[in-house]
Amino acid sequence: MSPFKALVIREKGSPATLETLEPGDLPDGDVLVSVQYSSLNYKDGLAITQTSPVIRKFPMVPGVDLVGTVVESTSSTFQPGQTVIATGWEMGERYWGGYSQMAKVQADWLIPLPDRLTGVEAMAIGTAGLTAMLSIMALEAHGISSDRPILVTGAAGGVGSIAIALLSRLGYPVTASSGRHEIIGDYLHDLGATDVIGRLEPLQPALGSQQWSGAIDTVGGQTLATLLKTITYGGCVANCGLAGGSNLPTTVFPFILRNVSLLGIDSVLCPQEKRLQAWQRLTELLTDDLFELILNAIIPLDHVPTFSKQILAGQVQGRVVVDCNG
Ligand code: NDP
Repeated sequence: MSPFKALVIREKGSPATLETLEPGDLPDGDVLVSVQYSSLNYKDGLAITQTSPVIRKFPMVPGVDLVGTVVESTSSTFQPGQTVIATGWEMGERYWGGYSQMAKVQADWLIPLPDRLTGVEAMAIGTAGLTAMLSIMALEAHGISSDRPILVTGAAGGVGSIAIALLSRLGYPVTASSGRHEIIGDYLHDLGATDVIGRLEPLQPALGSQQWSGAIDTVGGQTLATLLKTITYGGCVANCGLAGGSNLPTTVFPFILRNVSLLGIDSVLCPQEKRLQAWQRLTELLTDDLFELILNAIIPLDHVPTFSKQILAGQVQGRVVVDCNG
């Protein structure tokens, strides 16, 4: 194996820089992967800019997702030449991640690339798409009605965009809540939103009018508090994110007077069986036209720091794929 390029953060507070690494620099792992693409998620933005302590070990190669070809494997599950996907499992946090031309990972983090997907499509989905699907699976398991719309917050972002597309393909009426509703309303309608509104404002009373059968919330904070007050009796909210804040200034009234459920979603340590189910459903539901809509840009590794600032500022629409060889 020859030297390869990777984005590296050497120590706490230092910037991410493109470096040439030697094969011996790679950490231990069962499977050596020649990485084709990674993607940009909100958490990658937090890690690259070190806005929050996402990175637990230095030096770190960030990037929570990757798709690539197996080069060497000590596991009987994966053979050289196979194309594989890895998302989460603390890559880019505790273990070196996908912003690299080569990666060494554990075999039990990997799933085979589904036949119907290209590498770019797999990373257009990435952690964001997996999280959107897991959120829908949680709503379904709770038992969600389509009598009233399902609300998606942070609608123009990665998780939000894919959640709208999936919910609409599954036949649910979807309301998209976005701070950019006036400028990208067409995009949200094209994804399948039946209605587009602005961000939710704080609501003083303990409960508000019952508007949504359920919700996928990527924003947290005050938005989630308002959301809980406006869910119909017996409905539920799948919360996966904190783009608007990690506090939850709520009361117990939505839970004890309206039987509302708050469901937590984690994609990082999600068990493999559930991931495989989610990827299967993503592959079935996301069609070429949706990939075209959702895929915002394919960027080279050295553009990741600039895009990281943009994603934290809520300026990225849909999904950004990172071409590790571009
Ligand atoms: P994006 O940046 O792509 O989307 C977030 C969206 O939230 C933005 O596009 C914007 O949408 C909205 N937003 C941004 N800032 C604010 C704000 N201050 N107040 C209200 N809304 C805001 O990020 P991702 O889709 O990658 O991730 C979304 C969230 O989900 C993040 O918090 C991320 O950490 C979390 N996440 C969690 C996972 C898990 O396993 N639990 C996995 C993946 C993501 P708009 O302009 O439309 O309002």
